[in-house]
Amino acid sequence: MRFGYSADCLDHDAGDRHPESPARLRAIREGLDGRYGVEYVEAPPADRETVECVHDSEYIEDLSAFCEAGGGSWDPDTVAVEATWDAAFRSAGLATWAAERALAGDDGRDAPFSLGRPPGHHAVADDAMGFCFLNNVAVAAAHALDADADRVAVLDWDVHHGNGTQDLFYDRDDVCYVSLHEDGLYPGTGDGTEVGDDEGEGATLNLPLPAGSGDVDYTTALDRVVTPALSAYDPDLLLVSAGFDAHRHDPISRTRVSTEGFANLTARVRAFADETDAALGFVLEGGYRLDVLADSVGTVQEVFDGYDPTDPEGDLEPGVEDLFSDLETEHPLL
Ligand SMILES: [Zn+2]
Repeated sequence: MRFGYSADCLDHDAGDRHPESPARLRAIREGLDGRYGVEYVEAPPADRETVECVHDSEYIEDLSAFCEAGGGSWDPDTVAVEATWDAAFRSAGLATWAAERALAGDDGRDAPFSLGRPPGHHAVADDAMGFCFLNNVAVAAAHALDADADRVAVLDWDVHHGNGTQDLFYDRDDVCYVSLHEDGLYPGTGDGTEVGDDEGEGATLNLPLPAGSGDVDYTTALDRVVTPALSAYDPDLLLVSAGFDAHRHDPISRTRVSTEGFANLTARVRAFADETDAALGFVLEGGYRLDVLADSVGTVQEVFDGYDPTDPEGDLEPGVEDLFSDLETEHPLL
C-alpha cells in the first residue's frame, strides 16, 4: 500500500495524557517497518478553498486565530497547540491525496491510505469536537466531487459515530455515509432511523451495534447490510473512515473486533471495490491502543499485499439480528 504521511502531523500535541497522541503515528510506522510493499508519500496540505467546501469560513478564521494564539482547550476533549493548524491542513491534504490517487486508478498494492492526524469525522461545518478539527474525509469527498466523481461513499468503521461526516452531507445525494459504531458511545448520534433528509434521504445508513459486538457481527453487517447498500448506491469512489478503536483491546470501547476481524472487513471492502469498479481509499480516524492500532493498520496493508483472511465463526450478539432485519426491510437503499 501507499501511505500518505507527513511529519507535520506529529506536531499536533494535545498533551501527555491525551489518547490522541503523536505516538499513534509513530507506532503505526514502526509496525509497518520491514513489511514488504510499504511506501510513504508526502502530500501537500489541503487548500483553504477545498476545506471551505465543507467548513464555514468563520469557523476556519476562529481556528486560525485560536492556533496562532497558542491554542488551548477548544472543548474539554479537543485541545490544540499552535502547530495544530498545519497538522490539521496536512491531515486533510493527505485524505485528499488518498481520494485523488484512488480516482487515478491506484489499487491493489498501490492502494492509498492516509495516515493523518488530528482525525476528522466528528468535526462539523462550524465546530471542532471529539479530537477533530477539520473533517478530513469530508474534505476529500468534496475534492473528489469537484474533480472526477459524481458519487462518493464513506464507510466509517471507527467505533464512534461520525456525526460530522453525516451532518455535512445529510441532505445531499452525492455523498453516501455508512457507519458501524457502538451504540451509546460518544457523541450519541447514529440511530438506525437517521437515513438522511430531502435529496439525501436514503444516503445515510447507520448500524449502531451493541457493546460486545465482534468479528461475526461486523462481517455479517458488511455481507447483509453494508455491501448491498453500497452496491445500490453505486459510488465512483469509496473512502473508508478507518478508525481502529473498535478493536477488542482498545481501551475506549467495549466492541470486540480482532485484528483478523479488520482483515475480514478490509477483504470485503476490497472485493466490493473490485467487483463494482469503485475507486477505494483509506483515511485514518481513531484507534488508541498503540500496539493493536499498529497491528490493525498492518493487517489492512497485508490484505492489499495478498493476504486472504479466514471468515470468523459464531453467533450474532443479542439484538444484532433485529437491527439487521429492520434495516433490510426499512432502509431505502435495501
Ligand atoms: Zn473513534
